[in-house]
Amino acid sequence: MLPVVSIVGRPNVGKSTFFNRLLGKRKAIVHDEYGVTRDRHYGETFWNGRDFNVIDTGGYLPDDMNVMTVGIREQVHIALEESDIIIFVVDVETGVNTLDKAVASLLREQEKPVILVVNKADNEERRLNASEFYELGIEDLYPISSISGMGTGDLLDKVTEYLPEGEPEPESTLPKLAFIGRPNVGKSSLFNALLQDERSIVTDIAGTTRDSLNSNLNYNDKDYILVDTAGLRRRTKVKENVEFYSTVRTEKAIRECDIAILIVDAMQGFDAQDKRVLREAEKFNKGLMIVLNKWDLVPEKDTNTVRDFEEYIYTSVPQLSYVPILTISAMNKQRVHKVLDMADLVIQERKKEISTSEFNDFIDQMLGEKPLPMKRGQQLKITYATQVKSDPPVFKFFMNSPHDLPPNYRKYIENKIRQRFGFTGVPITMVFRQK
Ligand code: GDP
Ligand code: GDP
Repeated sequence: MLPVVSIVGRPNVGKSTFFNRLLGKRKAIVHDEYGVTRDRHYGETFWNGRDFNVIDTGGYLPDDMNVMTVGIREQVHIALEESDIIIFVVDVETGVNTLDKAVASLLREQEKPVILVVNKADNEERRLNASEFYELGIEDLYPISSISGMGTGDLLDKVTEYLPEGEPEPESTLPKLAFIGRPNVGKSSLFNALLQDERSIVTDIAGTTRDSLNSNLNYNDKDYILVDTAGLRRRTKVKENVEFYSTVRTEKAIRECDIAILIVDAMQGFDAQDKRVLREAEKFNKGLMIVLNKWDLVPEKDTNTVRDFEEYIYTSVPQLSYVPILTISAMNKQRVHKVLDMADLVIQERKKEISTSEFNDFIDQMLGEKPLPMKRGQQLKITYATQVKSDPPVFKFFMNSPHDLPPNYRKYIENKIRQRFGFTGVPITMVFRQK
């Protein structure tokens, strides 16, 4: 697991501008297909050959001054729990402010390294004014301009100096399952139900202790790591921080896990945020599952109810119809162990290897059933195909004119692969190369 650097500070000092500069993006705003804009809060970057993750704690604070003071305190606590180093950003244009002082006093009370970044030091005069912030009692002070990038090199040198020494702990090879989903869908309840299930044995495995929020579990003679994405948020009072916390945790968990398990409250249904999270996990080629929790609350269930729910979800995200859906009640501990059975299946599916001869026979048959179209007077042809890797699977196809392959034929190939070979819950990568 990489070290984590958090960026804290009051609104408008330039945290997100700075975050985007660190991540090498002018704008980190992601427009997704549902027309919602959002900020990214978590990302990986590197400096002096060291990789680390950065959290931007900005973006969600309310305007009300009283709420903001509480909110910013909570943000600092979240940052401290989540990271190894804190970057505290202030604004030289406005000078030292009461909120800055509040943040500084919280940061002085703890042990982690803190770097004070005096932002908006765009010119010589402002760089000189930056000294005013020594008043905050933080020794490492760096005037920078997030807009021009001035000063960021020296600052990053300091950050890498503070990064934990030595080799990062070896990644555990055990499969990591992350429960993701909106607040109150039942993530913690499921987490606890699994840890308490009589069939599971909570284990203590060396090398996985760094993140105390993860739990090791043995079930059916197999080991798993459960990534808790819910824990800390319970202690926050400010609504905006709950949101922030769950976003950061979700982004972090998606990157770290092998299987992303989206928990949905069956009574609330599936929304744009759930879709986005699934697409995000798909983008990182994680194994995927959907768990409809609180099934006990669904009234008048009959044999069609599950199918209706499945249809509703697959209709709203047709691209993800390979993702298995389970219905459970974490509260009543109903079918909770099925989550692990299904996760195990997805783990196996992700590791599946198809032999080249079998795959080429399949391709020949598929081309026979539905030949590739002509393009510019030329018959498109796939001459050879092979699975180049597994866990997650990547297939490579050699063909005469890859750029002419119609998107719907590409989709057809994927559907055919799934029909024949399964890959339940596993995103498939297909690469087409000129031959
Ligand atoms: P956040 O609320 O702390 O995340 O602040 P933002 O990153 O949204 O920035 C607030 C405002 O400060 C925006 O208008 C930025 O363009 C501006 N800003 C950020 N960094 C700099 C800088 O280095 N110099 C100047 N002059 N303006 C900046
Ligand atoms: P989290 O925020 O996603 O971790 O959700 P929690 O596990 O804290 O659950 C939120 C609320 O939903 C709590 O009041 C739980 O008791 C309740 N809850 C969780 N699972 C179930 C379930 O299967 N059925 C019912 N009826 N309530 C549940």
